[in-house]
Amino acid sequence: MNVVSATDLELDEPQYKHCTATRNACKLCTPLGACLVFRGIEGTIPFLHGSQGCSTYIRRYLISHFREPIDIAASNFSEESAIFGGSSNFKVGVRNVVAQYQPKMVAVATTCLSETIGEDMERMLYDYLKESWFEGHPHLIKVSTPSYSGTHIDGFHAAVRATVAALALPGERTARINLFPGMVSAADLRHLKEIVGDFGLPCTLLPDYSESMDGETWSEYEKLQSGGTPIADIYASGSAQASVEFGRTLVDFQTAGRFLQERFNVPNRQLGMPIGIRETDAFFETLEALSGNETPAKYAKERGRLVDALIDGHKYVFEKRAIVYGDEDLVVGLSAFLAEIGILPVLCASGGKSRHLKESLRAVIPSLDARTEIREGIDFAEIGELAESLKPDLLIGNSKGYGLARKLGIPIVRVGFPIHDRIGGQRVLHLGYRGAQSLYDTIVNSLMDAKQTSSPVGYSYL
Ligand code: SF4
Repeated sequence: MNVVSATDLELDEPQYKHCTATRNACKLCTPLGACLVFRGIEGTIPFLHGSQGCSTYIRRYLISHFREPIDIAASNFSEESAIFGGSSNFKVGVRNVVAQYQPKMVAVATTCLSETIGEDMERMLYDYLKESWFEGHPHLIKVSTPSYSGTHIDGFHAAVRATVAALALPGERTARINLFPGMVSAADLRHLKEIVGDFGLPCTLLPDYSESMDGETWSEYEKLQSGGTPIADIYASGSAQASVEFGRTLVDFQTAGRFLQERFNVPNRQLGMPIGIRETDAFFETLEALSGNETPAKYAKERGRLVDALIDGHKYVFEKRAIVYGDEDLVVGLSAFLAEIGILPVLCASGGKSRHLKESLRAVIPSLDARTEIREGIDFAEIGELAESLKPDLLIGNSKGYGLARKLGIPIVRVGFPIHDRIGGQRVLHLGYRGAQSLYDTIVNSLMDAKQTSSPVGYSYL
């Protein structure tokens, strides 16, 4: 926390405004995003260089959302490693993990502690490989993820980039596309694979935790769950015809798509998350251009049914007021969809600080006006303070907003991550016309339910 003297403070401003501390952060730990990416790669074990508590915290969050076991190794910093460095713990830890899990890749992410003491990870990997490399040794990659200077989304994108930077190979141009979807649900990943497959496009979808984090039951415990982006597909990403990357706020971010463009001349198409009609149209138009095929009839029908549903439900949602919060690009996509269906997003809020949330929202909502508050770097205490005067009818975001929704007595539509007070968070579909249909039904029904619940005489069709 920054220290400020009383004379530095404006009398009418609360003191916390001058601090870097947050109260119930609207973001999560940076290596959490990296660990999720790494569990979405075939045979990969995430390895945290830091304390065991970090790995426990991240595992707890991921398990409560996905309801699947996840192993995350750690170099288990002690007081001694915090002072003298953790290089010996690191070497022993990686050797153990390689012996016990026999992974295809060990993917190392740093933590606040190892970043703060300035661990030289490049050197540490070099020294480890010099001593311990053997024929057939798994890949060993690393990503820098200090949590005090980013969010889980920053860790997620950094890990995707670090993976292609380490593994992508040059080659003769192919018909393959790379799809970097950002942090979406397991259901979204399955739907994206279905869509791209229906266009006849071979695809490197990175990451792909649709099976590893939402799989079937096992007859025997699998140390590393099956599924994940095949490593051979990541090698092939360097010779793809194009990359498609979701994320309007990633303007300043060194993404995987930008890396492949710079290193291997793979053109990068930066799109918004395909949430709602317009953003999904843009995604399908891109796939048409890349494949040379028309949108398959089943998606045209899904779009048509969605438009019909919007007409049916319009009277229930028109001019309702919503607070949308969470990951910046999810907030952009959801807000665009809300504007399409006649709901006013009165507050678009994120713990992220890309500095591009406002312009991204303006790009997808041409009618955006001063009635919409847009806040980056916000926490839930501030969202709660703003909510009192904004008079929202509903909240749309992750489970961390539940307490606020309860206090305000309004419904919460759970989307994004984490959803840990409901079952099926990993199966919430956000993307495509099908995802918009599902979101729309949930939003309308939540508003109808709130009206029934609060009505003194009930509200029914009888
Ligand atoms: S110390 Fe840092 S890396 Fe570890 S759990 Fe906390 S925020 Fe995450």
